[in-house]
Amino acid sequence: MKVAVIGGGTMGNGIAHVFAQHGHEVVLIDAQPAALDRALATIEANLARQVKKEAITPADAQATRARVHPGTDLALAAGSRLVVEAVFEDLAVKQQIFVRLDEVCADETILASNTSSISLTRIGAATRRPDRTIGMHFMNPVPVMKLVEVICGQATSPETLAFVTEAAKALGKVPVTVQDYPGFVSNRVLMPMINEAVFCLMEGVATREAIDEVMKLGMAHPMGPLALADFIGLDVCLDIMEVLHAGLGDDKYRPCPLLRRLVDAGQLGRKTGRGFYPY
Ligand code: NAD
Repeated sequence: MKVAVIGGGTMGNGIAHVFAQHGHEVVLIDAQPAALDRALATIEANLARQVKKEAITPADAQATRARVHPGTDLALAAGSRLVVEAVFEDLAVKQQIFVRLDEVCADETILASNTSSISLTRIGAATRRPDRTIGMHFMNPVPVMKLVEVICGQATSPETLAFVTEAAKALGKVPVTVQDYPGFVSNRVLMPMINEAVFCLMEGVATREAIDEVMKLGMAHPMGPLALADFIGLDVCLDIMEVLHAGLGDDKYRPCPLLRRLVDAGQLGRKTGRGFYPY
């Protein structure tokens, strides 16, 4: 089928990669030509890694590459059976894109968002097809991680859920259905754990290394919560805690003041060279 992916950043290039690798024609749309260049270069590098590991053949890699068609105009999404949006985590930006997609796409096209925390119900309500709007929350790095958290908004239809569930399975992913509440399941459970680790650090319960070691060795987590927060980005962690706090109205979700302070200082984790750890 034809699939459109909107946004060619960290998530969008991975989503385009997996759809193309599984035989779909993919239009990859980003407002910034430079972002498209970076996305194609990343897909190329990731395909080369898969070939080196003998996960795919050089011919598979070439065919995958040929199925990704970059462009800057949202109108290129016309004719797609499924659209997956992965632009900035901003409700107004996403709503604007969904309104436009609603205009250019056929009635049967399903509009999915890769949002980590924005209400699917609110995104869907901006369109004339809230029943065909759904969350498809891939995990980073997309070609590697098995989970797709499938999020049903208030009006998402059972047919839309069934379609997206089958589409995710056909990519070799494991779809898990959740309802549209703040943070869904993934971030509702993960972020308070990270936030609590930051409280432990702020209160001097233990050093950053000790906190991470307890969770790695004691709970078999592949990364400690502070190292994971640096990987995700402390600004992203703070934003999601704010969504949980505002959306659920319970002070148990209050962001840790130390998390806020590091974000204010511009120490956002790996991407700025410093977060809880130096990089
Ligand atoms: P990113 O900043 O890496 O990429 C976003 C891309 O969207 C950029 O290339 C930008 O040019 C493009 N864009 C912005 N506005 C646009 C517009 N109006 N039209 C077309 N393109 C536009 O972001 P990301 O990390 O890939 O995140 C994308 C989405 O995925 C967000 O909703 C985020 O919450 C979600 N998400 C991110 C992760 C992660 O680990 N990074 C994990 C799961 C979900």
